[in-house]
Amino acid sequence: MDRKILLSEKDIPKQWYNLAADLPTPLQPPLGPDGKPITPDMLAPVFPMNIIEQEVSTQRWIDIPEEVLDIMYRWRPAPLRRAIYLERYLGTPAKIYYKDESTSPAGSHKPNTAVPQAWYNKQFGIKRITTETGAGQWGSALAFACQLIGLECKVFMVRISFDQKPFRKFMMNVWGANCVASPSMETNAGRNVLKEFPDTPGSLGIAISEAVEQAVMDKTGKTRYALGSVLNHVMLHQTIIGLEAKKQLAMVGIKKPDIVIGCAGGGSNFAGISFPFVADKIHGENIEIIPVEPAACPTLTKAPFVYDHGDLACMTPLLAMHSLGHSFVPPPFHAGGLRYHGMAPLVSQATVEGLMTPRSYHQLKCYESAMIWAKTEGTICAPETSHAIAAVIDEALKAKEEGKEKNILFCYSGHGLMDLSGYDAYLSGKLTDYQMSDEEIAKNVACFKDMPKPSNKKTGKW
Ligand SMILES: *Cc1c(COP(=O)(O)O)cnc(C)c1O
Repeated sequence: MDRKILLSEKDIPKQWYNLAADLPTPLQPPLGPDGKPITPDMLAPVFPMNIIEQEVSTQRWIDIPEEVLDIMYRWRPAPLRRAIYLERYLGTPAKIYYKDESTSPAGSHKPNTAVPQAWYNKQFGIKRITTETGAGQWGSALAFACQLIGLECKVFMVRISFDQKPFRKFMMNVWGANCVASPSMETNAGRNVLKEFPDTPGSLGIAISEAVEQAVMDKTGKTRYALGSVLNHVMLHQTIIGLEAKKQLAMVGIKKPDIVIGCAGGGSNFAGISFPFVADKIHGENIEIIPVEPAACPTLTKAPFVYDHGDLACMTPLLAMHSLGHSFVPPPFHAGGLRYHGMAPLVSQATVEGLMTPRSYHQLKCYESAMIWAKTEGTICAPETSHAIAAVIDEALKAKEEGKEKNILFCYSGHGLMDLSGYDAYLSGKLTDYQMSDEEIAKNVACFKDMPKPSNKKTGKW
């Protein structure tokens, strides 16, 4: 029995898979301020045109440029591992497999999109990329990619993380990026907030506004903005995870997993592991596909499917997605990467269609699961990843009750070696669970009353 299933470099997938080609109910277009669908050229000040083309593409397979692969060979293909020690501990007949995305230089799946995004920007003649980051996972991944590709990288990091979690900022500096606390004095958006709230801890919404402003205001036209999740091209780039997994499962004689699981913040690692299997499900396979989110930020499980902005300042187009409202500020739980108010339109549309069975967990249960993982498999997972592990443990125990030999696949999205303060808080009993009441959710989503509504149509097949 193999604990590591390794794909050789020559077998790495050469194309990404685009779910937009196969969704039974098509994606609904992003809308501009006038409520009309936006055109690609309206996005041109923000993103390079080669990325915009991917964003709107409905082509099923899209070639991965050879130079992008050449950079990713540093850690890809990523190992598929079998969690045999966890299986033994649980006494389950289920087989648990996971894609180990913690092996990338930045320690998560995020370089899978940072590298192609930086490469397409460079191809387009861009010199500098701006972005925002919360706890720093995305900022460090983009800094890494820009360093290797030869682009300047500017990161607006949410003030409170900048002060309290300096280590990822140091990683960005090692990779040559310029990381500033947001709100900053460098942009109108930042200065306006600081005038009114000089002591603000900052937020992702403000940081996005600053990064976009700095990209579109550059008079040389050589700066663009990059986003690490949510958008279609990001989901596309992450499908290399599930495409590799499919080949690796075939190597141990598994035609299809019974269950696919990923934690979902903006939806990108979940999309990456699951979309190639969603395609199989659309074509008749019986696969349960489970995105897992925090109970304190229950986007897919409790929020409505609406048109909403991606940011607090409403600078982004309206996206058809599940959203808790662009002004929603989740409570300060530790899985920073899961604290986003919206969900990727592709994941949202597939959920409306009934192809996904989302669920949520409280953070204490997630940390308990992370502790079981650490004492069985041995590695320390990211707090985000612990949500997937909580669901894996529940599904493995259910298989035990039913006496079924199920194959479970999940995405181990990252390691937790930069997030040890969360573990410290858990171990010293300082963590609590946050319950989002239905009234709170209702109050937040009231803002959708006067917004355009996406259609809730589905085929009814699932
Ligand atoms: C950023 C991050 C996430 C959440 O982002 P998605 O786009 O939903 O994947 C999950 N896990 C890790 C380790 C992350 O860094």
